[in-house]
Amino acid sequence: MAPSYKIASIPGDGIGPEVVSATIQVVEKLAKTLGAFQIEFTHIPWGTAYYKETGRYLSEDALDTLRKFDAGIFGAVGAPDVPDHISLWGLLLAIRGPLQLYANVRPVRTFPGTKCPLNTATEGIDWMLVRENSEGEYSGQGGRSHVGQPWEAATEVAMFTRVGIERIMRFAFETARSRPRKLLTVVTKSNSMRNGMVLWDEVAASVAQDFPDVTWDKMLVDAMTVRMVTKPQSIDTIVGTNLHMDILSDLAAALAGSIGVAPSSNLDPTRKNPSLFEPVHGSAFDITGKGVANPVATFWSAAEMLKWIGEKNAADKLMTCVENVCAAGILTPDLGGTSSTQEVVDAVCVEIGKIK
Ligand code: ATP
Ligand code: MG
Repeated sequence: MAPSYKIASIPGDGIGPEVVSATIQVVEKLAKTLGAFQIEFTHIPWGTAYYKETGRYLSEDALDTLRKFDAGIFGAVGAPDVPDHISLWGLLLAIRGPLQLYANVRPVRTFPGTKCPLNTATEGIDWMLVRENSEGEYSGQGGRSHVGQPWEAATEVAMFTRVGIERIMRFAFETARSRPRKLLTVVTKSNSMRNGMVLWDEVAASVAQDFPDVTWDKMLVDAMTVRMVTKPQSIDTIVGTNLHMDILSDLAAALAGSIGVAPSSNLDPTRKNPSLFEPVHGSAFDITGKGVANPVATFWSAAEMLKWIGEKNAADKLMTCVENVCAAGILTPDLGGTSSTQEVVDAVCVEIGKIK
């Protein structure tokens, strides 16, 4: 019997519902056309509207709810009238930590229809970014004292554990090993941060011994931004902390052509918990409701999800269809086109219909 997958759909805020609905349409069409598996999406209403109604971004049993699914597809969270740290911690960070989705993986590639803005990268960019997703600068540790006083102080503690660094480092070396160039750059800031970052350097050197076939180097995050712009071809896989890779992955998405096509996976590599797949972009309220949100980042995220749950063939087919549509110039305005979200969906569905 064909396998059957249960997927949690969390559209969230802003353009989230538009790009997630677009993605469900193409994935359902794909599943129906291929006939090799069944896939069922269950809508979960978490987000800012839910928060305004209940005072919480997630239901109380959110983690148990999610554990019933094979994976989740997530849109975006954040609204103009709620401070970002409340929405982000209320939803995404409240899921990533407890579910131990410790590897955030972001493929970055110059996509048909996008133009790499670097004249140093004539053939475009093809990188794999691995971000530590469960601790570090975003561990939420710290606090404020003397609130409101001129001598008010705040601490934001970056907490790194050997276990946390080692597991992401192994994952990164394995990722680098699985790619043709077998090349890894470990990003730290161990010149000025003498505790956590030095531990990163030490763990990297020790894990590297188990991967003699991977060529690796170490780079300070500031120097890495320069290298990404001036020597993009010298890079393949990059691993770094939660904060560093948050910043470098936005830079990478922009260098590849557009944030509107950039996907991201929040993985639990042990597979004890369902992994969560989402576009890199946020809720983008400036274009919400206009029908022009680029759905490609979420299509690509769904393809990564299909690969993760074991449907690589479907994932590859979906990406080919999406690439064909982009290459044919059916593009949303962020990529210089004039098509609407729904026109891109319809064109991808037509491509899927042509699959033999
Ligand atoms: P957040 O605060 O959640 O990060 P945001 O409103 O800052 O969300 P981003 O997602 O960071 O928005 O994107 C910045 C800008 O890029 C948006 O304001 C929007 O104009 C554009 N953009 C982002 N995603 C898309 C998309 N999928 N399609 C078209 N344009 C997009
Ligand atoms: Mg933003």
